[in-house]
Amino acid sequence: MSKKISNQSKNGSGGVSRKGNNRPSADLSGLPVAKNEEYEAEIVGIGHEGEGVGRVNGFTLFIQGALPGERVLVKVLKLKKQYGYAKLLKILRPSPDRIAAPCPIYSQCGGCQLQHLSYEAQLRFKRQLVVDNLERIGKLKVAESEADASEKGILVHPTLGMDDPWRYRNKAQVPIGFEAANADREGGLIGGFYAQGSHRIIDMDECLIQQENNDLVVAEVKRIARELGIRAYNEETHKGLLRHVVARYGFNTGDIMVVLITNGESMPHKDELVGLLRQAIPGLKSICQNVNKERTNVIFGDKTNVLWGDDVIYDTIGDIRFAISARSFYQVNPVQTEVLYSKALDFAGLSGEETVIDAYCGIGTISLFLAQRARQVYGVEIVGEAIDDARRNALLNGIRNVQFEVGAAEVVIPEWRRQGIAPDVIVVDPPRKGCDAALLATILEMRPARVVYVSCNPSTLARDLRVLEDGGYSTVEVQPVDMFPLTVHVESVASLIYKGIVRIN
Ligand code: SAH
Repeated sequence: MSKKISNQSKNGSGGVSRKGNNRPSADLSGLPVAKNEEYEAEIVGIGHEGEGVGRVNGFTLFIQGALPGERVLVKVLKLKKQYGYAKLLKILRPSPDRIAAPCPIYSQCGGCQLQHLSYEAQLRFKRQLVVDNLERIGKLKVAESEADASEKGILVHPTLGMDDPWRYRNKAQVPIGFEAANADREGGLIGGFYAQGSHRIIDMDECLIQQENNDLVVAEVKRIARELGIRAYNEETHKGLLRHVVARYGFNTGDIMVVLITNGESMPHKDELVGLLRQAIPGLKSICQNVNKERTNVIFGDKTNVLWGDDVIYDTIGDIRFAISARSFYQVNPVQTEVLYSKALDFAGLSGEETVIDAYCGIGTISLFLAQRARQVYGVEIVGEAIDDARRNALLNGIRNVQFEVGAAEVVIPEWRRQGIAPDVIVVDPPRKGCDAALLATILEMRPARVVYVSCNPSTLARDLRVLEDGGYSTVEVQPVDMFPLTVHVESVASLIYKGIVRIN
C-alpha cells in the first residue's frame, strides 16, 4: 500500500510537533507509508527508548507501547526518509510476554520503559541486546551454548536479574513546581516528574522503582513546605525558592539524607523546617541545602550547606563502607551493584600479587573492592570531588594499597606507563560513550594479562572490544547484570585475556 503525502498533512493535527518539523520536508513521496494513514505493523524489535520497532511493507516505524512479536494497528505521525514514528491504536495480536504495567502513571512519566513486558522477558531482551551489539557492531562471534564457548565464540550469560525488581533505587531527585493554575500565587506546591517531552511538572506520590523511604521523604518535604509557605521555584520567571528535593537512602544502614536545592542562599523557617522534618522522618541523618541560582536544567549548584546533622550518610557494598555526600556519584541500585562488582572481581582473577588499574573509578567503589585482593591498585577519574571521596573512603576502610589520581584516563594512564607502572589487570568502567581511543591504544601497549570491561552501553562496549580483539585480546565471556530493572538500560561486564605471550614482571 503506497499513498502520497498531501501538503496539508505536514501540519496535520495528528502530527507530533518536534524541532525541524517546519523545515521544507524532504521528498517523502516514494515511501511505502504516508503520514496520518493507518496501517497494520509487525513488531520485530525494541528500540533505544523501549518503543516497538515495527515494519510496514519493509519500512521501519517506531511505535511506543508495542512489543516484539505483536501485530498492531498504528497511525503514522511523522516520517523521515529511512523511518517514521507511529501511534499505537490497537493490539491485534498481543505478545505472550505482555503484562499490565503496575504503575498508574507509567504512560505519562517515561522514567521506566519496560513495565508492560514481563520481567523474565526483560532479562531475555537485555541479553539479546548485548548479543546483537557484539555481533553487529563488534563483528564478534557469540557461542550458541556453554559447551560451545571459547573455541567457537564468546559466552554471553543469561542476564542476572533481581528477585524483586521493584523499589530498588536508593536516590530520588524530584523537581518541585506549581500546579499550572497557581503559577503566580503561593501554595499549590507540587513535586513529581516532568510530563514526557515537556517541562510541565506532574505531582506524584510514589514511584514504584524508588525505595519506599524516598517516597516518604519527598511527600513529607512537600507537606511541610506547603505548611510553612515555602515557595516553589518557577522555571519561567526564575522566581521562587525550592527547585528540587533529593532523597538518598543507605540500603544497608538505613541512613537517610534530604537535600533541598534552592534558588538562593536563604532558608526561611529553617529551625521549624528542620524540627518538622526530624519529627516526620525516622532514620534521618542529614539535612542539606544546595544552592543553585542558575537558569539551568542541571540539578545541583556548587554550594552545599548542612542545615542539620552530618554532611554525609553511610552505606556498605560487601565489606566496604562508603561515605556519600550530597553530590557524590553512587550507584543507584545497591543490591545489583554488589552482583556487578563481584563479577568484575571474579573476572579480574586476582591472587593478591597483582598490580591493577581501575580507569573511570568514580568514588573508588570498584578500586576498593579490587584492593582487598591485589598488591596495588591505581584509580583514575576526571571529577576531582569524586577522587576526594575515593581517598576518604580508602581511609574509612583502612585500605592503604590504593592510589587515586584526578585526570582523564587517556592522559593519566600513558603517564603511569612512562613511570614504569605495569598492570597485570586493567578494569575500565567508562560512561556511555565508551573508552577513549588513546586509552585503548595504551591498554594494547601495556598489554595486561586481563582486561575487565564494565559497560553501561552495549554498542560502545562492542566497538571497543573490536579494538582490543584486533590488538591481541580475546573476549571470553560477557555477563549482563540488570542494574536498572523496568528501564531499557543494560549493564554488562566483559572478561578479556591476552592471547599472545604475557609479559612477566
Ligand atoms: N566505576 C565507578 C564510576 C563509573 S561511572 C562506579 O562504579 O561507581 C564513569 C565515571 O567515569 C564517572 O565517574 C565519570 O566522571 C568518569 N569519567 C568520564 N570521562 C572520563 C575520562 N576521560 N577519564 C576518567 N574518568 C572519566
